[in-house]
Amino acid sequence: MSDELGTLYRDVIVDHGNHPRNHRALGDEAVSAEGINPLCGDEITVYLRLDGDRIAEATFESQSCAISTASASLMTEALIGKTRSEALDLFDDVRSMLTCTTPIVDETSRIGKLRALSGVSAYPTRVKCATLPWHTFREALDADRCATISAESTK
Ligand code: ZN
Repeated sequence: MSDELGTLYRDVIVDHGNHPRNHRALGDEAVSAEGINPLCGDEITVYLRLDGDRIAEATFESQSCAISTASASLMTEALIGKTRSEALDLFDDVRSMLTCTTPIVDETSRIGKLRALSGVSAYPTRVKCATLPWHTFREALDADRCATISAESTK
């Protein structure tokens, strides 16, 4: 990574860490999940509102470090408008970028602005900070699926 690109990525993390986007709770129609990273003390709640198969709103509340907050902020921006399967593909890409020694993500992938998080992979103790929002998001999505299935089974 060139220094210039490294600086750009750092700026994105600092910006989202200090001014998180979509940092609020959603109402009763939303599904949510809570996640905790005991290593750092990060606590996060991710809220999703689905419109059919599409994520209409994604927000979060957190008591978390700058890396975790920035990851959650970038995540909510990336998730809004995606279908369930597109969002899960993105989850796989981000997890690979952060945790694999040889990430499968290439320059042309759908990862876009989330690449700003890639520098975190060099700091193993911070990787959990960056992945926490994503694992929490998956739990919220599963919670929605369970709610949908149980609503259908009672018809
Ligand atoms: Zn953290």
